[in-house]
Amino acid sequence: MNTLEYMARYNYEQVVFCYDGGTGLRAIIAIHDTTLGPALGGVRMRPYATEDEALTDVLRLARAMTYKAAIAGLAQGGGKAVIIGDPATDKTEALFHSMGRYVQALGGRYIATEDVGITVRDIEWLSAETEHVVGLPVSQGGSGDPSPPTAFTVLQAMKVCVQEKLAADSLKGRTVVVQGLGKVGYNLAHLLHDEGAIVVAADVNAELLRQARRELRVTAVDPDDIYDVVGDVFAPCAFGGILNSKTIPRLKCPIVCGSANNQLLEDADAKRMEKRGILYAPDYVANGGGVINLSLELTGYDLDAARDKLRTVGDTMAKVIQRSKSDKMTTAEAADRIVEERIAAARKVKPIYLE
Ligand code: NAD
Repeated sequence: MNTLEYMARYNYEQVVFCYDGGTGLRAIIAIHDTTLGPALGGVRMRPYATEDEALTDVLRLARAMTYKAAIAGLAQGGGKAVIIGDPATDKTEALFHSMGRYVQALGGRYIATEDVGITVRDIEWLSAETEHVVGLPVSQGGSGDPSPPTAFTVLQAMKVCVQEKLAADSLKGRTVVVQGLGKVGYNLAHLLHDEGAIVVAADVNAELLRQARRELRVTAVDPDDIYDVVGDVFAPCAFGGILNSKTIPRLKCPIVCGSANNQLLEDADAKRMEKRGILYAPDYVANGGGVINLSLELTGYDLDAARDKLRTVGDTMAKVIQRSKSDKMTTAEAADRIVEERIAAARKVKPIYLE
């Protein structure tokens, strides 16, 4: 990859390569945009096959964080970090101390948190070397597991979509088809159950499905059949790229709203859904709960304030729908447009010097 050219094309600010021979650390930190505030984003650990693969991943993820924070109205920019290594075998306390020192050296331009392959223990090790960390356990003044707030904002976005598309005031009696009953999906199924919705779900983990059937009266379907289930909302909560030219024609729900990151395989998939009359809640609008919750740690976490802020995702979703109608564009394009305008406006603000 021609890194600087790529950075110029998508307006990246900084990419830091971190190497520590003593601890074996090989990591990359990408800061996409700090116009709205310090770049917030998770540290991911994966045994990337090549350095290029790690670089591509960290750049893509950092930029996505800018959009997620900006659409949520946060005073936060987008960043991400990747550690090249196998989370099962390569983790040591020293490795995370070393990573922590690199984060600290950025002086708060990047704020780290947990991501794939990283546990709360790793974050605790990291925080021994840097104060620029969020996502610590509640017992240490942190906001804890981001999955429940993520499920909560998916629900807020879903309610707005149901109001828009089905003219319904609630999810009561509506069928929601959930793909993946993991940390977010299970929490979402719980919330939907409490709302009186009918939940149909698939997961490759049979035990999770059994538990959901028992606890939440979820109807289980085979993972391969999930796209064909007739319902009101399809909620992707497993992995990315699942909305594509093969799956979209199969969908039997007029709304798509879930937690998975990067749900569209390509930009054209938003148009494909629009053409089929499907209302799509852009993933980074609906799943903003985790990052919203984490950002509140920076000003001292308060549960009531967090709930109020998380509820605003419904208003944001309504704004996105409104914009997509007024400007005749997909909801995905409308969300991007709102973000880009917010950042461009913030860039115009001139600093006021008092001396
Ligand atoms: P998770 O790993 O806990 O859950 C994913 C679930 O999907 C697992 O139970 C897994 O068995 C299941 N699954 C895997 N393949 C499947 C298939 N083919 N069909 C059906 N189910 C399948 O992950 P999570 O934390 O719940 O995250 C889910 C998605 O939401 C991810 O895309 C993640 O990036 C995104 N997300 C999560 C958070 C969060 O706070 N956890 C925040 C924002 C976005």
